[in-house]
Amino acid sequence: MNLLVSACLLGIGCKYSGGDNLCPALVSALQSGGHTAVPVCPEVYGGLPTPRPPAERRGSRVVTEAGADVTAQYRKGAEAALALYRLCGCQAAVLKANSPSCGCGCIYDGSFTHTRVPGDGVAAQLLKANGVPVFTEENFTDLHGLAAPASPASENEAGQSPAPEFVLSNPLPPDAARIRQEVFVQEQGFAEEFDSIDRTAWHLVLYRGGQPAAVCRFFPGEEPGSYTVGRLAVRRPFRKMGLGAQVLAEAERRIAALGGKKVVLAAQVRAGGFYLRQGYAPRGEEFLEEYCPHIQMEKTLAE
Ligand code: SF4
Repeated sequence: MNLLVSACLLGIGCKYSGGDNLCPALVSALQSGGHTAVPVCPEVYGGLPTPRPPAERRGSRVVTEAGADVTAQYRKGAEAALALYRLCGCQAAVLKANSPSCGCGCIYDGSFTHTRVPGDGVAAQLLKANGVPVFTEENFTDLHGLAAPASPASENEAGQSPAPEFVLSNPLPPDAARIRQEVFVQEQGFAEEFDSIDRTAWHLVLYRGGQPAAVCRFFPGEEPGSYTVGRLAVRRPFRKMGLGAQVLAEAERRIAALGGKKVVLAAQVRAGGFYLRQGYAPRGEEFLEEYCPHIQMEKTLAE
């Protein structure tokens, strides 16, 4: 099943100090159970930087030790976490215990004295209010009581290639960064591969046989109803299998689910034929990005 998981529990360095809360037992259980983790960090989603001052709940407010009110950012992050849960078809959430965002059932009391009291973090509270089963790294084994994941047919049993699996996440997950590093930096020589858009874009990774194989990102464009797709890459061992078209089609499906009507992208001119075959039409003149000719292409999504 797809599970929303606190990103810090998966080893992503998004906690206030810049470190993580990697939980090897949880990661192992997710992998062995065939579950797909959708990483989320509500505080980063809410626009807070990393590192950032620690904060705790005081009633309905969230404040730092210095007294700064960060309630709005925590609420924004909670709403983004709920949207991601729904978008990815998750069935439960496993969140970091005691956190003012992710804590479930027990949080710090707002005195910054390591005193814990009954309560939920802002994101956990919103998820629970919307019917989401929320667990923590301390009781995730209770997940065994939920429906078992459907096991995909293996190549040997079915005599066919394994079906691709998709994981959509924000912030930039390690597998997406790895693919882009391999393809755009090491193979193609781009120096400015990672940018500020990576902080806010959705990152879609295609897994084949459990291996990260292809990636793209998307984010809202300036024109209402338009989304920009970019950084589409397929790792070398997975080419000539149609995975580029599959990850693009999945991105289009997710964009349509968000209400998007049109996809715009800056295609490398040498890849223009690929995008033409996916229904994109060129717009305007060619231009250079890091000395590489590009052209804008667009596609109107079906109603
Ligand atoms: Fe971890 Fe949640 Fe805090 Fe992010 S908000 S660092 S995911 S506990």
